[in-house]
Amino acid sequence: MSEQLIIDRIDALTNELNDYNHQYYVLDEPTVPDAEYDRLMRELIELEKANPSLKKVDSPSQKVGGEALKAFTQVTHQIPMLSLDNVFDQDEWQAFVKRVKDRLNTEDKIAFCAEPKLDGLAVSLRYEHGLLVQAATRGDGSVGENITENIRTIKTIPLKLRGEHLPEVLEVRGEVFMPKASFDALNAQATKKGEKAFANPRNAAAGSLRQLDSKITASRNLAFYAYSLGFVGTLSGADESAQWLPVSHYERLTFVRDLGLPMCPEVELLSSEDECQRFYQGILTARESLPYEIDGTVLKVNSIEHQQTLGFVAKAPRWAMAYKFPAQEELTILEDVEFQV
Ligand code: NAD
Repeated sequence: MSEQLIIDRIDALTNELNDYNHQYYVLDEPTVPDAEYDRLMRELIELEKANPSLKKVDSPSQKVGGEALKAFTQVTHQIPMLSLDNVFDQDEWQAFVKRVKDRLNTEDKIAFCAEPKLDGLAVSLRYEHGLLVQAATRGDGSVGENITENIRTIKTIPLKLRGEHLPEVLEVRGEVFMPKASFDALNAQATKKGEKAFANPRNAAAGSLRQLDSKITASRNLAFYAYSLGFVGTLSGADESAQWLPVSHYERLTFVRDLGLPMCPEVELLSSEDECQRFYQGILTARESLPYEIDGTVLKVNSIEHQQTLGFVAKAPRWAMAYKFPAQEELTILEDVEFQV
């Protein structure tokens, strides 16, 4: 390909993907299937890798999510909420493990915390002295939307944590999602009333949570699983995580569960990378029977010390990987059904 053709292609992909991001993250109205979006993003990343000087400043490969809607007050995340890199097959997965070991300069086996990749939207819950004081969407990773009143309507999210000795500030991150049964019931009801159906449970969860009227959110039967922590420390901003928190990711999840927050029952601690493929296959096989929608697994290096050594790239940690499932029913909804947010 000539340099001009590469420039034009990078230009076109950047603009197209930025438009899709706006439709998906800001308007909750995707116009192309995720598999198509993922294909275009991979093409852009490959072109950028081969031609780093041609990468554009507004490249979607460097950005998390979309801007927070102005209709909500905005929340600046004390610790950014990032995305995840993804792999789609065993070779890519093994290349990731190799990169991890090279960076850690070790040939030892690596323990992983293995989780289903829930198909909803990321939120951050802030507890002060054990009380839920604020909830925010991920937004663009730095600034999210204040959705505290809507989060309060989700029955499984505690307004007060259990346990007497708690850090002054504890931020818990996780996924709000719509269980399949609630999604089916909601769409059946919409069809009966002659209203538009939702595209998928992710879209329904995002549309239900980003409502200005929390009564609508309350009627939507959303659920939540915690999957990580944000800031842990004092109200004056001192980071006290080292004093409070266990030193592995899996133990941190069970710590959060013991405080009363729901943790996905399918999460497993794997003693080495060799078990990850078995976990992936098991979850893929169980996918249809799970009560919630997933689009892959997330595998996280379990040691927090290793996580800290590995660090982050622009929009994702180097210690976690989304191992995604092959695309399913690529074009279902978008061709056949009108949907709403
Ligand atoms: P992502 O969904 O691939 O991965 C990051 C997100 O995974 C996190 O923010 C969190 O919300 C979620 N997650 C679920 N389970 C998790 C767990 N156990 N641990 C940690 N995180 C977990 O990344 P993204 O940046 O939110 O979205 C990118 C994807 O969204 C694309 O790959 C594409 O499939 C889809 N997308 C589609 C369109 C479209 O137009 N169809 C547009 C933009 C994005």
